[in-house]
Amino acid sequence: MSGRPGVIAIDGPAGTGKSTVSKILAEQVGAQYLDTGAMYRAATLAVLEADVPLDDSRGIEAAVADAMIELIPIGDGRSRVYLNGVDVSGPIRTDEVTNAVSAVSAVPAVRSKLVALQRQHSEDAFVVVEGRDIGTVVFPDAEVKIFLTATPEARAQRRHAQNLAAGRDSDYDTVLASVNRRDHLDSTRTVSPLRAADDAVVVDTSELSIDEVLAALQALVHDRIGVQR
Ligand code: C5P
Repeated sequence: MSGRPGVIAIDGPAGTGKSTVSKILAEQVGAQYLDTGAMYRAATLAVLEADVPLDDSRGIEAAVADAMIELIPIGDGRSRVYLNGVDVSGPIRTDEVTNAVSAVSAVPAVRSKLVALQRQHSEDAFVVVEGRDIGTVVFPDAEVKIFLTATPEARAQRRHAQNLAAGRDSDYDTVLASVNRRDHLDSTRTVSPLRAADDAVVVDTSELSIDEVLAALQALVHDRIGVQR
């Protein structure tokens, strides 16, 4: 089997069920789970806390260079995110961070810092790595590459339902506009745009339940690396 042994790369836009299935898959196959989006979110929080305007790429670069970002596993494939020693796992999920993260993640120095951290985290590990550029840039030789996609409407509907379930105010049209905006920014940026690697298996989750997506992924992983389901 060719490729970087032990890396299962799962890429795709928000709202495809990516985080949910990545976590469960990691647990089922006994792998660690690395949420790279959480790292970009922590970097974004550092920028917001430093009051750097989002069009100031040098300021963003400096704020992120100074930030210490850590993902600490807490068992069951879950982890907490720390920024300069403070647990920011909750604050990185606010709308303020979500709306600013594409601008911060488009800065090349931010990406090189976080890509290095992601490789370091995954060294010698059996790991499910979830993100936007894992199969294309971070681990171009990953043993398994999966790209999850879904229509913007299906993805917005899921986000909207998640918001309501979590007791957050939510308006479907606003969520759809935000999904479209973030997709556009993530897929048109110059550095590491969101796209499927040529050798990734693309799974359209629009019409699939989480269980169906999971079954498809398990079959794929089983096929490629023979991990027992
Ligand atoms: O996965 P999540 O939605 O939390 O990611 C937040 C943002 O982080 C994405 O919209 C994207 O801008 C950025 N990101 C990235 N590369 C990754 C993971 C996330 O640019 N590998």
